[in-house]
Amino acid sequence: MQRYMPDWWALPAINDKNREFFTSGNIVLQSCESCKTVQHPPEDICHACQGTTFDWHTCTGEGVIYSHTVVEHPIPNTLKDRVPYAVILVSLDDHPQIRILGNPVNIDPEKVAVGQRVRAVFETIEGEKAGVTLKIPQWEVV
Ligand SMILES: [Zn+2]
Repeated sequence: MQRYMPDWWALPAINDKNREFFTSGNIVLQSCESCKTVQHPPEDICHACQGTTFDWHTCTGEGVIYSHTVVEHPIPNTLKDRVPYAVILVSLDDHPQIRILGNPVNIDPEKVAVGQRVRAVFETIEGEKAGVTLKIPQWEVV
């Protein structure tokens, strides 16, 4: 799958907390081992019980657009050939309180609307560290 943003666009810096999210090819959320609370983005401490040990919970990767915007002004100016583009906030079906930012890959930015159903798709990109293949979640309107 082609990248939504240009090839020079910054990639996530992978660390122990976000590796599973950016490399698994699934929508995976941090799940507290103590109280089973699911949270995103991954943090050092559970928001509910202050636990510090976590598992990963794999989601369906389906949801609805909770909010969106269309970027029309190229900031930085090097994005002048890329605008307009859409940025969406997705509420997951299996965890509606969790919202994930991304881009809708198969729709004209002007046609994006709150409530549209989306499904996660993944951009496969060789990471900046050797041997790390990123699978960046994006969203397909279904
Ligand atoms: Zn907890």
